Amino acid sequence: MKKSGIILGDKVAVVGQILPHKHPEVWKMYLDGVGNNWTPTEVDMSKDIDQWKDGQTLSKDEQLLVRRCLGFFAGTESLVGTNLLTTVAKWVTDAECRQYLLRQAYEESLHNWTVVTCCDSFNLKVDEVYEAHLNIPSIKAKDDFLMEITTDIHREDFSTKTVEGKREFLRNLISYYLIAEGTFFFSGFAMILALGRQNKLQGLSEQIRFTLRDESIHIKFGTYLINAICDETPSIWTKKFEEETTEHIKKAVQLEIDYAHDVLPRGILGLNAEMFVDYMQYIGNRRLEGIGIEYRFESDSNPFPWLSEIVETGAMTNFFERKVKDYQHSGNLVDDF
Ligand code: MN
Ligand code: FE
Repeated sequence: MKKSGIILGDKVAVVGQILPHKHPEVWKMYLDGVGNNWTPTEVDMSKDIDQWKDGQTLSKDEQLLVRRCLGFFAGTESLVGTNLLTTVAKWVTDAECRQYLLRQAYEESLHNWTVVTCCDSFNLKVDEVYEAHLNIPSIKAKDDFLMEITTDIHREDFSTKTVEGKREFLRNLISYYLIAEGTFFFSGFAMILALGRQNKLQGLSEQIRFTLRDESIHIKFGTYLINAICDETPSIWTKKFEEETTEHIKKAVQLEIDYAHDVLPRGILGLNAEMFVDYMQYIGNRRLEGIGIEYRFESDSNPFPWLSEIVETGAMTNFFERKVKDYQHSGNLVDDF
């Protein structure tokens, strides 16, 4: 890891200077993000709407699964976007990183838009989707956990000038990039893509496929940021902090497994909640290794090997209907699920 290019400087409100590049990896992530351009309205939802209404394509359990996944996305995409603007963008001073944050914020707005598009397409009860973070215990538990472990950063006297402040900022990055984006979205993504794989709601699957490609780079960027800040100020990373971070990731994996049990009580689509124990442990291990923590969850096998292929190539859509841009960055985007 290069040490040039201060990620957390003292002054935020200064003119950013992108050239000469100090973090070329981050610049590449920015270009990869732009290469995945998409909008929810480009995706044809007409067949999804027919399937949603026809009363036979989707079982009640499958419809519930979709409503719960959207309920979780509604709350958490908004939390991630808000944290990005109010906290991450407030303290990160490096110009290339700030350029990436501008792109990421736009992508989070698309993810919010996906939820809106689905509420409109399926005529969902808005309260059920947008109040899931209050009313559905397994969803509330995830959002509450995120907010609980990141409150200190909102203190009036918070600053990243001290080592303690930098550590608190790092805790925020770990919570949002590795736990919210890097863990909490993953069972929902797998469930929706499993529907698409069975020719159900392929428009929604397509939106989630693009979202997952975005999120894959967000996680890569967050991991880079965390490691680069630790390289700049090695005293931030203490044994105690590592233990605490390990506990947070363990708790996050457990909350995600609880959520999968809640959403898949009877097992559908060839999926059952037990598969998500393996999957979330596998995902948890990728997050731990990303930031150099040695602890590993027991299971390290991916029960959904088809997932990365779908995300990478759009394999579930008709070959001839695929857009040229699907191939544009093949091999760049997806490497950790
Ligand atoms: Mn997002
Ligand atoms: Fe994201």
